[in-house]
Amino acid sequence: MTVRPRDDLALMVGYHSPQVDVAVRLNTNEAPEPPPPAFTRQLAVRLAEVEWHRYPDRSYRALRDAIAKHHGVAPEQVFAANGSNEVLQTLLLTYGGPGRRAAVFEPTYALHSHIARITGTAVAVGERTDDFSLDLDEVRRVLAEAQPAITFLCSPNNPTGMTEPEPVVRAVASEAPGLVVVDEAYGQFASWSALELVDAVRPLVVTRTFSKTWSMAGARLGYLVGPAWLVAELDKVALPYHLDAVKQLAGALALTFEDEMRARVAALVEERGRVAAALAELPVDVWPSGANFVLFRPRERDGAAVWQALLDRSVLIRNCASWPRLAGCLRVTIGTPAEDDAFLAAVAEALA
Ligand code: PMP
Repeated sequence: MTVRPRDDLALMVGYHSPQVDVAVRLNTNEAPEPPPPAFTRQLAVRLAEVEWHRYPDRSYRALRDAIAKHHGVAPEQVFAANGSNEVLQTLLLTYGGPGRRAAVFEPTYALHSHIARITGTAVAVGERTDDFSLDLDEVRRVLAEAQPAITFLCSPNNPTGMTEPEPVVRAVASEAPGLVVVDEAYGQFASWSALELVDAVRPLVVTRTFSKTWSMAGARLGYLVGPAWLVAELDKVALPYHLDAVKQLAGALALTFEDEMRARVAALVEERGRVAAALAELPVDVWPSGANFVLFRPRERDGAAVWQALLDRSVLIRNCASWPRLAGCLRVTIGTPAEDDAFLAAVAEALA
């Protein structure tokens, strides 16, 4: 006897980013450095206090309080999970599902439509303009035709890097018929955040992650800020004890290093400017970025060939060719100045 996955999953391909052994890894938008040494030291001390034989605090109060304090909201407005991907999944399990639709505007973060499909949510696709910005007429067309239960925005948008302008997010927030999710995985690198739109009533949430700014991709922790009534629904859907004790400790501790992290974000933003300016001197198109990565497209060479030439020089970046509308495009994460120098030297060689 053979067992078959659900018919609607059978033809799906998984979401993969190659993990290759290279000297310079700039393909998954992680922080280039580990957390501050004091964080690791303090966490080691705290680990000795973990009650390993007991389930963790199911409602992760200390972590919730710390995140709430960080954003100046009530703890009841915070929902956390194992990476912001799991936050997105919980949103889709709660507000999506069979008979419901989620709207996305391509090109955007592939997991929005991927997790939607896995949860049985139909996907309504809108198109960004040629410069990858959101056109409100197109947004209105999709909202009117699909009546989505969830509308996804991503700001800054992965993989284009562009921050959604405040008036556009405000318009979507007031016109969407259902929940609006603003994915701000890269929000700290941008000049504007939709967090200011979160209130007690409006069905709008902002998702964030510890994977980028907080140098904690290895721990898998993300969260959202939204209205308390919505968080209460998500709490019903999340598995019991879904956040382990170690992660709860690590997340709350990380937030005590806010000043260090702000300084790191500022340095990365400056470094982003340096990399973008250097790329602009080469025969490539470069998109403006509000994130910790830059999207570019070689004008005279095939993107995949340039990607391979970089890999041959032990520099791994992201080949976006298979993503909607991104033929020939490459995405590079901002690393340490030394890593970025290695990338810039390799890309100049590859394009020569
Ligand atoms: N949203 C966006 C836009 C992302 O780029 C990523 C990471 N690639 C995530 C969410 C997921 O992040 P995590 O699950 O590590 O929190």
